[in-house]
Amino acid sequence: MAATIINGYEIAAKIRSRTAEETLKLKEAGIEPCLAVILVGDNPASVSYVTGKQKALAEVGMKDRSIHLKEETTEEELLELIRTLNEDSTVHGILVQLPLPRHINGEKVIMAISPEKDVDGFHPVNMGNLIIGRKAFLPCTPHGVLVLLEETGVETDGARAVIVGRSNIVGKPLAILLTRKEYNATVTICHTGTKKLKEITRQADILIAAAGSPGMITGDMIKPGAAVIDVGVNRIPDSTKKSGFRLTGDVKFEEALEVAGCITPVPKGVGPMTIAMLMVNTLESALNFKNKANRQK
Ligand code: NDP
Repeated sequence: MAATIINGYEIAAKIRSRTAEETLKLKEAGIEPCLAVILVGDNPASVSYVTGKQKALAEVGMKDRSIHLKEETTEEELLELIRTLNEDSTVHGILVQLPLPRHINGEKVIMAISPEKDVDGFHPVNMGNLIIGRKAFLPCTPHGVLVLLEETGVETDGARAVIVGRSNIVGKPLAILLTRKEYNATVTICHTGTKKLKEITRQADILIAAAGSPGMITGDMIKPGAAVIDVGVNRIPDSTKKSGFRLTGDVKFEEALEVAGCITPVPKGVGPMTIAMLMVNTLESALNFKNKANRQK
């Protein structure tokens, strides 16, 4: 029997709609949640991600303070902009679209964002709090994956989860979150040094592919009935498309469909969830600022 296709697009729309309702309430209370998305240069993939974020901001009714800087922007100019936005009490979230041009040190830039406005959840303070289970902005993609699993009714408690990819923005935080008591999964992280990958992935009740390697997860690597979450977004040149490329995941979708219990497609799987969770984090940040202001009254 073919796997159920998890509709990330629909689930994300539901989350945006709930976020829009909460945003409206906050606006009525005099606070307009506001996100500053900073884009440096014109990397086509980054431009399209930023456009997606702007569309979502408009949809949920939040203020969009997007700033598009030219490729030649210096590191110091970018850091100065971040300092200004950190100080601006009308801005609740700051996001710098990655990757940055090579002459800018991405780590330095992330470190410059105030942890209170770090709605991407990449600052070491948020990452550290996440690890020890304290309140933190959860990184949007891992958070989106967890919501997808919950909304689809995938049992994580006692499940064996295998994550292919150990990046700081997806694989690592997702592994930490899935091992939290509330999710209670047993997690294995795989990477390019992993031997006998197939033997490991075939044990997964939940298989998460976050490698950035198109089609690397084949049908024979999947345990029958497993939940398969494909985080990968790969641009494959395709002259039949107007854009000149098509998007594909890390999972061979047609093969996986025959084996898995449920699976996310690419596009319309994890991608829209990442943006929806960014809206959730921005709302949370605005609420934090409101509560802080109330305490200081
Ligand atoms: P990184 O390149 O930072 O990390 C990739 C990880 O996958 C590395 O740990 C790497 O191992 C591992 N890996 C790569 N190839 C293999 C392989 N053949 N076998 C085993 N492990 C492998 O990528 P990101 O985490 O930033 O992104 C991963 C994918 O997810 C990309 O396609 C990206 O576009 C997509 N993405 C999608 C998002 C969404 O919203 N849908 C958001 C963020 C990312 P090693 O450490 O050994 O090099």
